[in-house]
Amino acid sequence: MDIRDAYVVRDAVNAGEVSAREVAEAALRRIEEADGTLKAFLTVEPERVLARAGEIDRKVKDGPLPLAGVPVAVKDNLCTKGLRTTCASKILEDWRPPYDATAVARLEAAGAVVVGKTNCDEFAMGSSTENSAFQATRNPYDLDRIPGGSSGGSAVAVAAGMATLALGSETGGSVRQPASFCNITGLKPTYGRISRYGLVAYASSLDCVAPMGNSPRDIALLLSQVAGRDGHDSTSSPEPVPDYEAELRRPVKGMRLGIPKEFFGEGLDAEVRAAIEAGVKNAESLGCEIAEVSLPHTPYAIADYYIIAPAEASSNLARYDGVRYGYRVDAPRDLLDMYQRTRSTGFGAEVRRRIMIGTYALSSGYYDAYYGRAMKVRTLIKRDYDLAFEKVDALVSPVSPTPAFKIGEKSSDPLSMYLSDIYTVTANLAGVPGVSVPCGFTREGLPIGLQLLGRQFQEGALLRLAQSYLDAFAPQAPALRV
Ligand code: GLN
Repeated sequence: MDIRDAYVVRDAVNAGEVSAREVAEAALRRIEEADGTLKAFLTVEPERVLARAGEIDRKVKDGPLPLAGVPVAVKDNLCTKGLRTTCASKILEDWRPPYDATAVARLEAAGAVVVGKTNCDEFAMGSSTENSAFQATRNPYDLDRIPGGSSGGSAVAVAAGMATLALGSETGGSVRQPASFCNITGLKPTYGRISRYGLVAYASSLDCVAPMGNSPRDIALLLSQVAGRDGHDSTSSPEPVPDYEAELRRPVKGMRLGIPKEFFGEGLDAEVRAAIEAGVKNAESLGCEIAEVSLPHTPYAIADYYIIAPAEASSNLARYDGVRYGYRVDAPRDLLDMYQRTRSTGFGAEVRRRIMIGTYALSSGYYDAYYGRAMKVRTLIKRDYDLAFEKVDALVSPVSPTPAFKIGEKSSDPLSMYLSDIYTVTANLAGVPGVSVPCGFTREGLPIGLQLLGRQFQEGALLRLAQSYLDAFAPQAPALRV
C-alpha cells in the first residue's frame, strides 16, 4: 500500500477497499525498515496505533471521514494524551501529557492515525535536529547530512514514507527549512491560523503549529481540518477557514510575484541561487508576473529574532523547575540546589545558552535596549511586508542559503547555525504565511526548496501556487538512501 498521498489513503479507507489497520501496518512496517537508520521517531507504540486504526475502521462504517486512516507523524513538542511528549529534552524525558493539543485532537476527530512522535531540536531550538537530547536524525538523501530542523523528524517521516502527513512547529523556519532539505512541502501558516493549545511554548509571539506533506494539496486537506478558532487559545484567529480545496482549483495566471532583492545577496550558495532563478522563470511560464521588490530591514532580522525568541523562551521555560513536570535531580541539598541542578543537567547546551541570552535581554536596565528595541525593529520588518504586498500577491525566494549541511558541521558554531535562518525568520516576525516547495536538486543530489510568502490568511493562494508549480515542474528525485 502506497501511503504517500492522503487522498488515495482516505478514499480507499472510506470506500472499504483497504482498512485503516492495513494502512497503519504499512506505515509501521516502513518505520521498522527505515527508522533504525534515519532515527526520525522518538516514540512509536504499535499497539496503540493499531487500536486507534481499528476505531477508525469501525467509524467509517457510519460514513466517510476527511482523513480516514491517514497516518500522521507528530513532532514531539505537541501534546498527545498519555503518549510520551519529550520536546527532545531530558527534562521531559518521561512526561505523558494529560491532554491532546488541539491540532492533534482535530486530526484524530477527522480520522487520522498518529503513528508516532518525532525527533526535533530540544524545545524546537535549532535548525538541524542535532540539539535533540536523544538522537541525531539523518537526511534520507544523504545519511551523513542533517535533515534540517527543528522539525527534522517530521520531515524525514514524510520524506521516507513512514507517514503520509506530519505536524511540525515553526518559530523561525522549523518546518519550511527541513521541508526544503528533504524534498517535501511545508507550510508555516499565518500566526493564529492553527491553535497553539498543547504546543509546548518556545517563543509565544512567534510559535505556530505547521503541517508537512508530499504535496500542497495534502497540506490543504490537513489545514482545512485543523485551522480555526479554538477557545483554549486566545491568540487563535476567528478568521473564517476558507474552502482550501476550492482555492486550489482557482487559476494562478496573472498572479504577481515579487522577488525580494535582499534574499539573493551574499552567502547564497550558487546552486541554490540557480535553482531558485530557474524556479522564478518556471513560475513566469505559468502566467505569473514577476517584479523586483525590497524588504529593506532584512539585514536586521537575525539579530532581531535572536533577541525576541530567546527572551520569550527564557520566560516560557521557567516552568521546568523540577516540581511540576518531568525530571528532577536526586537528593537535592535544598530547594535552590534542586532548581539549579535540575535545570543545569536537564536542559542541553543550546537551551541553556538561549535562557541566558533571553534572561539578559529582559533584565531590568537592558529591557529597553534589547527586547523593547527588538520589538520596534519587528514592526519595521512587518511594515516591509505590508508595503511589498501592496505591489505583489506573493514573494518568491530561497528557503535556506545552502542545501543540507553535514552532521556536526555547524554544531560548534551557533552563530553560523543562526545565520542560516536568514530567509525564514522574517515571516515569523511579520506573522505572514510561507510555503516551502521542492524545486530542484544539487549536483550531489541534495534537495532545494523554493519559498513562497503571502499576505496574512492567504494560505490558499500560496498552496495553489505551490501545487500548480509542482504539477508542472516537480523535480526528478534521486533514490532515497534507505
Ligand atoms: N532555527 C530557529 C531557532 O533555532 C527556528 C526554530 C523554530 O522555528 N522552531 O530558533
